Amino acid sequence: MKIDFANLQYQHNLYKDEIEEAILKVARNCNFIMGNEVQELEKSLEDFTGAKYAVTCSNGTDALLLAMMALDIKPGDEVITTPFTFIATAETIAFLGATPVFVDIDEKTYNIDPNKIEDKITSKTKAIIPVSLYGQAADMDKIQDIATKHNLKIIIDGAQSFGCTYNGKTDSNLGDISTTSFFPAKPLGCYGDGGAVFTNDEKIANKMKSLRLHGQSKRYHHKYIGMGGRLDTLQAAILNIKLKYYPKDLALRQEVAFKYTKALETKTNLILPYIDEKATSAWAQYSVRVKNRDEVQNRLKEAGIPTAVHYPMPLHLQECFLYLGYKKGDFPISEIVSDEIMSLPMNPYVTDEEIEYIVGNL
Ligand SMILES: *Cc1c(COP(=O)(O)O)cnc(C)c1O
Repeated sequence: MKIDFANLQYQHNLYKDEIEEAILKVARNCNFIMGNEVQELEKSLEDFTGAKYAVTCSNGTDALLLAMMALDIKPGDEVITTPFTFIATAETIAFLGATPVFVDIDEKTYNIDPNKIEDKITSKTKAIIPVSLYGQAADMDKIQDIATKHNLKIIIDGAQSFGCTYNGKTDSNLGDISTTSFFPAKPLGCYGDGGAVFTNDEKIANKMKSLRLHGQSKRYHHKYIGMGGRLDTLQAAILNIKLKYYPKDLALRQEVAFKYTKALETKTNLILPYIDEKATSAWAQYSVRVKNRDEVQNRLKEAGIPTAVHYPMPLHLQECFLYLGYKKGDFPISEIVSDEIMSLPMNPYVTDEEIEYIVGNL
């Protein structure tokens, strides 16, 4: 058996006629920049997430930049986040001249541990960026309490969690601003780069709309230092089709995760994903912990089963962040999980036979 990790090909074939027609329509209209499809998508994203304002943008990294720029994060500020995430979360903080301040993760959810946040708050702290890793929001009730108490902003990095819920709300509808990514392999992916920011605050929404268009207030009049951060009409057209089917995709991902968990429950050599009772996951990844990971990955590879590691090195140990002065041992849970974590093939179309084969080989 040969198993595909994200199975984008299968998904394209499923919606092929509609998607290819939408692509052709944009090509024929030549409305490549900020075409109607973009506004249409933003309206649908607002309906889907429950957030009052959705602003699409070029990718999930720029989404983080737009969010921080809208909140005036600047050199000298400190922003608290997790070291167990994709580089973009902390890279964007540093890119704006602010300082990423890391806090270790919870051992069960792998998300930022709210009990360790307050120790790291100083007079320079401006914001907290929890990441909804693998598709599950962090402990937002506790994080929101801390933010309110210390007058801090919250930006949720929801690049992996579009459509997940926490206390019944999507994570696009929590915090001050929430971001997502439409990178092809994310739960809702486009056919290239794409992203969005969400907020319930009209002023912040308008500022982010302006920032993504070079900070302009009207054409060639610039209120802010902004960026070229628009989403292509072509990507919006594709997302308009894919979003219609996304609730079904999410339900299928949940089913696949449930089947994995059921089939793996008796494997004592693995630690399985943990979903908090307040949360549902978008299941960007199904990640397990295993002690002899390299060996297991190699064995699976030989059997035609692809695996991935999200992520093999926590951010406080990355070369680019050496200047922050962290060392090995500073965030022990992030370090252990980085050594043991392994993602299994995950997409809405993993079959029962594939799950049986994967579990059999584990
Ligand atoms: C993918 C990802 C990003 C960046 O999104 P891009 O669209 O690739 O720029 C940011 N944060 C996290 C946690 C991600 O997984």
